[in-house]
Amino acid sequence: MSGWKRTEVRRGREYTVQPVSAASAQKEYVCPGCGGTVLPGTAHVVVWRADGVLGDEADLASRRHWHNHCWSIA
Ligand SMILES: [Zn+2]
Repeated sequence: MSGWKRTEVRRGREYTVQPVSAASAQKEYVCPGCGGTVLPGTAHVVVWRADGVLGDEADLASRRHWHNHCWSIA
Protein backbone atom coordinates (compact mmCIF):
# COMPACT_ATOMS: atom_id res chain seq x y z
CA MET A 1 0.00 0.00 0.00
CA SER A 2 1.12 3.52 -0.62
CA GLY A 3 -0.34 6.97 -0.86
CA TRP A 4 -3.07 8.52 1.19
CA LYS A 5 -6.53 7.13 1.55
CA ARG A 6 -9.21 9.52 0.47
CA THR A 7 -12.97 9.53 0.41
CA GLU A 8 -14.89 10.05 -2.81
CA VAL A 9 -18.59 10.16 -3.53
CA ARG A 10 -20.09 8.23 -6.47
CA ARG A 11 -23.83 8.38 -7.11
CA GLY A 12 -24.52 9.55 -3.59
CA ARG A 13 -22.44 6.87 -1.86
CA GLU A 14 -19.15 7.39 -0.10
CA TYR A 15 -16.19 5.23 -1.00
CA THR A 16 -12.73 4.96 0.48
CA VAL A 17 -10.06 5.08 -2.21
CA GLN A 18 -6.57 3.76 -1.46
CA PRO A 19 -3.91 4.30 -4.13
CA VAL A 20 -1.56 1.36 -4.72
CA SER A 21 1.84 2.06 -6.26
CA ALA A 22 3.27 0.00 -9.11
CA ALA A 23 5.86 -1.45 -6.74
CA SER A 24 3.16 -2.57 -4.31
CA ALA A 25 0.93 -4.15 -6.96
CA GLN A 26 2.03 -7.77 -6.94
CA LYS A 27 -1.10 -9.70 -7.90
CA GLU A 28 -3.59 -9.72 -10.73
CA TYR A 29 -7.07 -8.36 -10.12
CA VAL A 30 -10.18 -8.02 -12.24
CA CYS A 31 -11.18 -4.39 -12.64
CA PRO A 32 -14.93 -3.95 -12.13
CA GLY A 33 -14.89 -0.89 -14.37
CA CYS A 34 -13.80 -2.52 -17.62
CA GLY A 35 -13.74 -6.22 -16.75
CA GLY A 36 -10.07 -6.30 -17.71
CA THR A 37 -7.06 -7.36 -15.68
CA VAL A 38 -5.10 -5.07 -13.39
CA LEU A 39 -1.65 -6.50 -14.04
CA PRO A 40 1.08 -6.76 -11.41
CA GLY A 41 3.28 -3.69 -11.46
CA THR A 42 0.41 -1.40 -12.44
CA ALA A 43 -0.38 1.53 -10.17
CA HIS A 44 -4.09 1.42 -9.40
CA VAL A 45 -6.63 2.11 -6.66
CA VAL A 46 -8.44 -0.08 -4.14
CA VAL A 47 -12.00 1.05 -3.52
CA TRP A 48 -14.56 0.04 -0.91
CA ARG A 49 -17.73 1.36 0.60
CA ALA A 50 -17.07 3.98 3.25
CA ASP A 51 -20.56 4.43 4.62
CA GLY A 52 -20.35 1.33 6.82
CA VAL A 53 -23.86 0.10 6.08
CA LEU A 54 -22.65 -3.50 5.96
CA GLY A 55 -20.13 -3.08 8.76
CA ASP A 56 -16.43 -2.50 8.48
CA GLU A 57 -15.53 -6.14 7.97
CA ALA A 58 -17.97 -6.58 5.11
CA ASP A 59 -16.78 -3.34 3.59
CA LEU A 60 -13.18 -4.49 3.71
CA ALA A 61 -14.14 -7.86 2.23
CA SER A 62 -15.81 -6.07 -0.68
CA ARG A 63 -12.73 -4.11 -1.67
CA ARG A 64 -12.22 -3.92 -5.41
CA HIS A 65 -9.14 -3.08 -7.41
CA TRP A 66 -9.71 -0.56 -10.21
CA HIS A 67 -7.54 0.87 -12.94
CA ASN A 68 -6.98 4.55 -12.11
CA HIS A 69 -8.68 5.57 -15.31
CA CYS A 70 -11.69 3.29 -14.84
CA TRP A 71 -12.35 4.61 -11.34
CA SER A 72 -11.95 8.21 -12.49
CA ILE A 73 -14.82 7.76 -14.96
CA ALA A 74 -16.94 5.45 -12.78
ZN1 LIG B 1 -10.38 -1.10 -15.77
